[in-house]
Amino acid sequence: MTRAHNFSAGPAVLPLEVLKEAQQEFLDFAGSGSSVIELSHRGPEYVEVDRQAQERLKRILGLGEDFEILFLQGGASHQFMMVPFNFLGTSQTADYINTGTWSKKAIKEAKLFGRVNVAYSSEELNFSRVPESSELKLTPEAEYVHFTSNNTIFGTQFRKEPETNGVPLVCDASSDFLSRPLDVSRYGLIYAGAQKNAGPAGLTIVIVRKDFLAKGKKEGIPTILNYNTHVGTMFNTPPVFGVYMFNKVLAWIEANGGLAAMEARNAAKAKLLYDEIDADDFYMGTTEAASRSHMNVTFRLKDESLTKTFLAEAESRNLKGLKGHRSVGGFRASIYNACEPESVEALTAFMKEFRR
Ligand SMILES: *Cc1c(COP(=O)(O)O)cnc(C)c1O
Repeated sequence: MTRAHNFSAGPAVLPLEVLKEAQQEFLDFAGSGSSVIELSHRGPEYVEVDRQAQERLKRILGLGEDFEILFLQGGASHQFMMVPFNFLGTSQTADYINTGTWSKKAIKEAKLFGRVNVAYSSEELNFSRVPESSELKLTPEAEYVHFTSNNTIFGTQFRKEPETNGVPLVCDASSDFLSRPLDVSRYGLIYAGAQKNAGPAGLTIVIVRKDFLAKGKKEGIPTILNYNTHVGTMFNTPPVFGVYMFNKVLAWIEANGGLAAMEARNAAKAKLLYDEIDADDFYMGTTEAASRSHMNVTFRLKDESLTKTFLAEAESRNLKGLKGHRSVGGFRASIYNACEPESVEALTAFMKEFRR
């Protein structure tokens, strides 16, 4: 078996230790004689998995008792609708920062529910940057300020949270969730699809602060779309395999030094790549330097006629998933937590060779 150097944007690489452990216990979980996907979600084995995942996530992020953790389904795209359904009334305003395809989709849904103020947009720059806080045109009485912490397609990332004068942040953290420490006190709600940096597709992690939740709408929300329905109880069958894998990824993060260690490891991998891109003008970054993502490194060739050759030769060296999104072109190396430094080294070695 040869494992690929996997640079896929999502679903994406997971830690090999996690995959092996899951493989080993797939047919007989915790001595039950059944697979974890064959057991009742209300039975003792799964209930323990759910409890462990919640405890670990609290420990890793430093979440206090003032936060609720929900394991939902539907992906981040579902949260684009669920957030304004719960928190944006027809006469209320929310601020949205438009830094890419996903932000735009979130804005489209929010407009169905209330007033949306686009506090900043980099659309006319083909989303090649994220704003400084001083550039935001915020609404003082906004219910929340929504931002996308890492723009998976365009390869930009906020280095720190936008300043909002006390208005709670709502964050689509799908593609950098658990890649670095967070100042959780700034957030009303954080959501992330697991499949970029935290587990398999099918699980959506939602972290919501209790006082923010208390300000949500009280009526007119279908039961399953109301966050309160999911607090402290499994309303319906959770994505059991996703939560099981997420729990293992969390254990892997803890065993490898937690979020500070993840941040350092990710920054070092990103630096290797950006240094190679910046070495001369053979390769070119597609984003403003100050906005560069440590998760999705986007770049292209100065001579774009060689793009296909680059991809084909990379593929033949087991370097997979490097094709850029069609709205940017060129290449995208997604280097999430589980991407090993060796994979990035193999890529930069190939980049040097290709240049020669
Ligand atoms: C992938 C991604 C999404 C979409 O996630 P789904 O789970 O497919 O709905 C949304 N936002 C960001 C930032 C993403 O990277």
